[in-house]
Amino acid sequence: MATLEIKDLHAEVITNEGNKEILKGVNLTVKAGETHAIMGPNGSGKSTLAYAIAGHPKYAITSGSVLLDGEDVLELSVDERARAGLFLAMQYPVEVPGVSMSNFLRTAATAVRGEAPAVRHWVKEVKAAMTDLDIDPTFAERSVNEGFSGGEKKRHEILQLALLKPKIAVLDETDSGLDVDALRVVSEGVNRYKADGEVGVLLITHYTRILKHIAPDFVHVFAGGRIVESGGAELAERLENEGYVRYAGKPEAAA
Ligand code: ADP
Ligand code: MG
Ligand code: MG
Repeated sequence: MATLEIKDLHAEVITNEGNKEILKGVNLTVKAGETHAIMGPNGSGKSTLAYAIAGHPKYAITSGSVLLDGEDVLELSVDERARAGLFLAMQYPVEVPGVSMSNFLRTAATAVRGEAPAVRHWVKEVKAAMTDLDIDPTFAERSVNEGFSGGEKKRHEILQLALLKPKIAVLDETDSGLDVDALRVVSEGVNRYKADGEVGVLLITHYTRILKHIAPDFVHVFAGGRIVESGGAELAERLENEGYVRYAGKPEAAA
């Protein structure tokens, strides 16, 4: 059973004006079968945490560690992280003109599995996953994310989740840009994938809306580049009623 351990993680964003520390000591352990929600105000560093785990080149880890089943993730290339079982939606390019979804997904699956899936089997697998997610069959032949609506991009993320079967899935703002129906379909996709209890989910969100569909076991409040409070699902309810005002005094929480 997989375990992702983030220990005292400090990270900077690299900019032309120099580096700026964003993550200021993040501690979090996510185990297979658990769903953790990270909630926090805009600019608190939630996406930076996702990018840091993903190995995005614009972020520099200055101290701390990220371990997947005891293995140092920070020493791995982006591809190796995927092969180790980490899924991070944002490691994939936004638009890839000329590359069909179908080919893109097969390449991703090859990278993760270490060998190319047999074509006939693969076509069936993709079809079944697309049916589950209410995705139009023509979608498979379209270029990756080109001209996709917000909802289609998110369905695409969950399609990858269903096909790549990671051990730990980090979903950043999966609810943004979704209407009520799309939110339901996407949430059902995540829940279906979670149901066997073998994946750990880190769900990053600004709003409580998606947590009504995907029940978190743990809720963490993120402010000023670190986790400032942790609790159960009831914490999300309190945040819905109170917002993040009580954390506004924390450094950068209101950015
Ligand atoms: P969140 O996802 O919680 O809204 P982010 O991780 O996107 O927060 O951003 C955290 C902080 O890092 C913000 O203050 C943001 O302005 C800053 N930041 C993020 N990316 C960059 C960048 N490329 N250049 C400069 N500042 C950045
Ligand atoms: Mg933001
Ligand atoms: Mg963000």
